[in-house]
Amino acid sequence: MPLLEGSVGVEDLVLLEPLVEESLLKNLQLRYENKEIYTYIGNVVISVNPYQQLPIYGPEYIAKYQDCTFYELKPHIYALANVAYQSLRDRDQDQCILITGESGSGKTEASKLVMSYVAAVCGKGEQVNSVKEQLLQSNPVLEAFGNAKTIRNNNSSRFGKYMDIEFDFKGSPLGGVITNYLLEKSRVVKQLKGERNFHIFYQLLAGADAQLLKALKLERDTTGYAYLNQETSRVDGMDDASSFSAVQSAMAVIGFSEEEIRQVLEVTALVLKLGNVMVADEFQANGIPASGICDGRGVQEIGELVGLSSEELKRALCSRTMETAKEKVVTALNVMQAQYARDALAKNIYSRLFNWIVNRINENIKVGIGEQKKVMGVLDIYGFEILEDNSFEQFVINYCNEKLQQVFIEMTLKEEQEEYKREGIPWTKVDYFDNGIICNLIEHNQRGILAMLDEECLRPGVVSDSTFLAKLNQLFSKHSHYESKVTQNAQRQYDHTMGLSCFRICHYAGKVTYNVTSFIDKNNDLLFRDLSQAMWKAQHPLIRSLFPEGNPKQASLKRPPTAGAQFKSSVAILMKNLYSKNPNYIRCIKPNEHQQRGQFSSDLVATQAQYLGLLENVRVRRAGYAYRQGYGPFLERYRLLSRSTWPRWNGGDREGAEKVLGELSISSGELAFGKTKIFIRSPRTLFYLEEQRRLR
Ligand code: ATP
Ligand code: MG
Repeated sequence: MPLLEGSVGVEDLVLLEPLVEESLLKNLQLRYENKEIYTYIGNVVISVNPYQQLPIYGPEYIAKYQDCTFYELKPHIYALANVAYQSLRDRDQDQCILITGESGSGKTEASKLVMSYVAAVCGKGEQVNSVKEQLLQSNPVLEAFGNAKTIRNNNSSRFGKYMDIEFDFKGSPLGGVITNYLLEKSRVVKQLKGERNFHIFYQLLAGADAQLLKALKLERDTTGYAYLNQETSRVDGMDDASSFSAVQSAMAVIGFSEEEIRQVLEVTALVLKLGNVMVADEFQANGIPASGICDGRGVQEIGELVGLSSEELKRALCSRTMETAKEKVVTALNVMQAQYARDALAKNIYSRLFNWIVNRINENIKVGIGEQKKVMGVLDIYGFEILEDNSFEQFVINYCNEKLQQVFIEMTLKEEQEEYKREGIPWTKVDYFDNGIICNLIEHNQRGILAMLDEECLRPGVVSDSTFLAKLNQLFSKHSHYESKVTQNAQRQYDHTMGLSCFRICHYAGKVTYNVTSFIDKNNDLLFRDLSQAMWKAQHPLIRSLFPEGNPKQASLKRPPTAGAQFKSSVAILMKNLYSKNPNYIRCIKPNEHQQRGQFSSDLVATQAQYLGLLENVRVRRAGYAYRQGYGPFLERYRLLSRSTWPRWNGGDREGAEKVLGELSISSGELAFGKTKIFIRSPRTLFYLEEQRRLR
């Protein structure tokens, strides 16, 4: 039953009756088919990707939502952005907006809607406008270097992003800080069927004028590049050439100098050219097979581009120096190893370039130390992933989602509890699934899976993915959220879906089977020192600065932290940051697998509703009282139900509400009178009120 005129289904799932998965899906579907893509669970916004431009955005809508309270208008991201911004400005509460959902569900679009809403309503003036411009223009730059076409999303973010936008005491923006997580760098050298490399490569080739191409020693045609010609190169509806000029001007607006932009493009070109460096069999004088570079020109061009002797580069790509305390031993790499080294170098250069770009944006948008700041954080991060093959990447992504779920439950419960306290209503304990046990299984400092992985990576002697798995099997054989072939066999369970090199975790969102192959390698994330040393010798200032560890004077023998350890510590920082703020949630849902408007696949949505814990969310939300409303608006809506309050009422709002409810036969346990709000336990009572209203 809709509470807003002209709305379809229930616009707040808290009012759903009966509360089961089927009714939840039906309600979302009904609304989606009527182009109502937003639905609430209390103050959480669920957004179902419309895959079409709806006429519900822009200045007119921004103005409307700016003047209204949260439940007055139809559910919208603008309503959420408005509440968040107003509490930040007027009540000094730092805010964070957490956007989750699977690939293609609309997270990045949602984050841009939030940013553009806030930019439209916060402060005026030349200085303020230039800050807003810088913040907004960071999007096209990060998307060019960090997004790619995948089979699920033509503009898929291949990194996680958290952005703090900082405001002064009046609520005008001062600047911000961006944190990026785990760029999918394997894409630089290899793309899956139907996918592309990062957008910037195609944009550069399509959009650079002849002079720039020549200076970068590039050809316009993508088919000549090994890193670009494996799969498709075009994306429907995407104009790479015009995006290229947009990216260049965005970089200029943010404050990149012309020289810096040129250097960034040179490094991008270098990565492309590296992919074309052919490694072939060669033999050493003693007849032992080794690798050699058979395309001398490519290496020479790279050398010219970044000021590096081609001999130096060849040597670094085809051999490896082992240093012990006493001596240096140089061994030749075989072809496979040399190709691996070349690709590792390309991936490393690109991901370091991406980090450098983020840092450079941050330097430009950063706020002076000591300024009083209010902060709004926006998190656009990969949702829970279950692929056919799940590897290290899915493992850490799902770990992050497990942590976000923990924040979500704790903060939602805390918020409910605090509201009850504020309103002077007794709090009854809510039962919920505490996923702390799964977080612990992964992150425990000494006994977690990540710690075990690090231990294997650092252990001298022969280590392999299978010794790692054996260790897990031994340690977690009795853990209620861990399974593997070994633990299954011990319990006489015979499950053909579980491979020998796999382990399975029962996440809050479902079971995921991970294949341990290359866990060690991906966690180690090591680049042969010969390569970083060669890069550091380049005259190109940017390349050189990307490989500080190549400086022999600075080269310490200390190992850099592993990928898993780095991720874990950045997740910990993120969590600390989120816990210090007031959370606002946007849960994004993808309605179909085909990026098509109007199609709603119930099965697909059901899985996502499960991963997002929507039912659990509604359950927690209405564990006590499903509905609450300020006395003023409540009385306004229902005062026609009592002769004491209709047509005129001169008393206070609370007394009026008491009068109305007192005259209807509602059992006393259904209601609680808070300091400023009336609380109603079950949706049925609210519907009863609505029905009475309609009958008048
Ligand atoms: P990924 O995890 O792969 O980065 P995502 O959740 O960030 O995915 P988006 O890139 O935001 O997904 O959305 C995918 C596409 O869906 C967009 O490029 C756009 O075409 C469409 N889309 C998303 N949200 C909206 C919207 N509110 N209105 C119109 N189209 C939308
Ligand atoms: Mg995205």
